Amino acid sequence: MKRLLLFDIDGTLTRSQNGHVPFNQAILETFGVSGDIRSVIPDGNTDPLIVAEIFSKGNILIQDIDDKWQQFSSNLRRCYSQAISSGNTAVHALPGAADLLQTVGAGGIFASSVVSGNLEPMARVKLETAGLYSYLCRGAYGSDSPRRADLPAIAKRRCEESLGVSIPLSECIVIGDTPRDLEAARCNHMKCILVATGRYSLEELLNCQAELCLPDLTDTAAILKTLLNI
Ligand SMILES: [Mg+2]
Repeated sequence: MKRLLLFDIDGTLTRSQNGHVPFNQAILETFGVSGDIRSVIPDGNTDPLIVAEIFSKGNILIQDIDDKWQQFSSNLRRCYSQAISSGNTAVHALPGAADLLQTVGAGGIFASSVVSGNLEPMARVKLETAGLYSYLCRGAYGSDSPRRADLPAIAKRRCEESLGVSIPLSECIVIGDTPRDLEAARCNHMKCILVATGRYSLEELLNCQAELCLPDLTDTAAILKTLLNI
C-alpha cells in the first residue's frame, strides 16, 4: 500500500529571501496599483486570497479581479524568475528537506506531492530553484482553488491518476508549517505533521494538536519512522 505525503512549500520545504519584491512587482504590473504582501500574513494562505487581502486592507477595489489571475500568474512567474536570476531574490531548500524527499522516494512505500497556496507555475519555480522539483508528483495549488481546504483532495486525485493506485485517506499525510495546513488536512480527514521552520514556533504549533510537531526536517531517520507508523 502507498502512503501519500503532501508537502507544503513555503516554510516547510523552502524559504525565500526578498520574495516580496517580485510579488509586489507582479501586483503592480497586473492590476495597475501598488500592493505590499508585507501588509498581510501570507503564511498558509493561497496566492489569490493573499492578493485579495492586500487590496482589502488598502481599500482598493479591482474591477473583474477574477479575469486577471492568469495574467498575474504569468507576471509573477516572470518577475520571480528574473529576481532569482539577478540575485535579488533567493529560494533555498530548508535543512533536511532534500534528504527526506530522497529517502522517502527510495523506499517504494511513499509517494511525495505538493499542497501549496502558490499558483502552480510559481510552485515550480520555487521547487526547481531549491532543487526539489524532481522528487514531487504534481499536486494541488492556489491556482486550483483559493480555498486551501480544497487542495488535498485535488492533489490526492492527481497522484492516484498518475500512479495508477487508489490511496485511502488514512494513508495521506499533510506536512506543513501553519495551522492552516492542519485545518486543510482535517477538512479532508488526513493526518498532519507540522514543522516549525516557518512563521510559527514549535510551542505555537504544539497547541494545534497535529499528529506530530517537529522543529525541522533534519532528523530523517526519526521522521521516516514516524511517517511509517502514524
Ligand atoms: Mg507554508
